[in-house]
Amino acid sequence: MGRTSMDGTDATIKRTLERNNAMARKTGYVWHEWYGWHDTGTHAGIFPSGGYVQPYQNFESPESKARFAGLVEVSGLLESLTRVAPRQVSDEDLLRVHTAAHVERIRTQSEAGGGDAGDGFSPFGKGSFELAKFAAGGTLAAAEAVLDGVVDNAYALVRPPGHHAEPDQGRGYCLFANVPVAIEALRAQGKVNKVAIFDYDVHHGNGAQKIYWEDPNVLTISVHQDRLFPQDSGLADERGEGPGFGTNLNIPLPAGSGDEAYWRVVEKVAAPAIKSFAPDIIIVSSGFDPSAFDPLGRMSVTSNGFRGVAERLLAIADEVCSGRIVFSHEGGYSAVHVPFCGIAVLETLSGIKTDVEDPFNESVGNSPTKTLTSIQEDVIGQSAELAKQLGMTYGH
Ligand SMILES: [Zn+2]
Repeated sequence: MGRTSMDGTDATIKRTLERNNAMARKTGYVWHEWYGWHDTGTHAGIFPSGGYVQPYQNFESPESKARFAGLVEVSGLLESLTRVAPRQVSDEDLLRVHTAAHVERIRTQSEAGGGDAGDGFSPFGKGSFELAKFAAGGTLAAAEAVLDGVVDNAYALVRPPGHHAEPDQGRGYCLFANVPVAIEALRAQGKVNKVAIFDYDVHHGNGAQKIYWEDPNVLTISVHQDRLFPQDSGLADERGEGPGFGTNLNIPLPAGSGDEAYWRVVEKVAAPAIKSFAPDIIIVSSGFDPSAFDPLGRMSVTSNGFRGVAERLLAIADEVCSGRIVFSHEGGYSAVHVPFCGIAVLETLSGIKTDVEDPFNESVGNSPTKTLTSIQEDVIGQSAELAKQLGMTYGH
């Protein structure tokens, strides 16, 4: 067995190294073993164990992330990516986004052996203060590599995630707001003026929405399962306020939406909005929990669906910001499916096709989600109208 699999791996590496020069891009990649050491304790999915609830893993475990990183290596794709070294962001970096009280509370609990970031659904163990700074710093390092021209685009496979974290509290497995902390550091360095965030995690990107609610220079777009989490946010009529009015777009899709719905969202909402906004860079909150196999989401997206989303986002980036796009990993809790979804995105970013085939595609390939329902059409149409209004505001 050893001989056969080694031969296969060697052949795979050789093939992936044979780049198609017309398509290949230099893609930065962040991953570090330490990201797997963020300890979310023994839960039964999202609930603490006890009584009749047998102890198990938290859904937010290292598995899906570490196995994604494993497939990147075993497929040979790693050899063709440019490793970008993560670092911890500073306290100063955190304090551009978070309150001093929140930062101190996480630091104190982390030193004392662990705690919860704020909502009872965000447990962490000893040392997660530094780990969470390392996750934000991984996203920042990836964006710097793109903006400095070291790579064309990048994927930061970081943990813990960040898109639910708000200025004064962590939420939904998130301690610090990785993407906004990175953006504010880039702004402080004078590297960017305008940034577009596109969030396809199955849950609402409430953190960026709140942080940039009145900011006209950061466009926040979130497509998510309607009222999944947080249950009271993510509706289409949440558009920002004051100077930031119009620069927040939500597309709350009904449960069951699949590949076609997600592709249509990028084409009909994200593309016109981002093109009229004309950002310096696009940052993607990349959650694979719209996967058909996710334990927390009720969507039907396949790895091919994520590939199609990435292809469309890359085309937008090519048109508006010289291809500058950075993916920062968020949720995604199917340990067995996430690796195939993730590698589909990395293949798209790098323009390199490995010989990895997703065995799960067959079981969901005939799903009726290929045809949009009238409810999905209506939701997307409503947000598309708001995206058009953004175009009128910016006059492009
Ligand atoms: Zn999520």
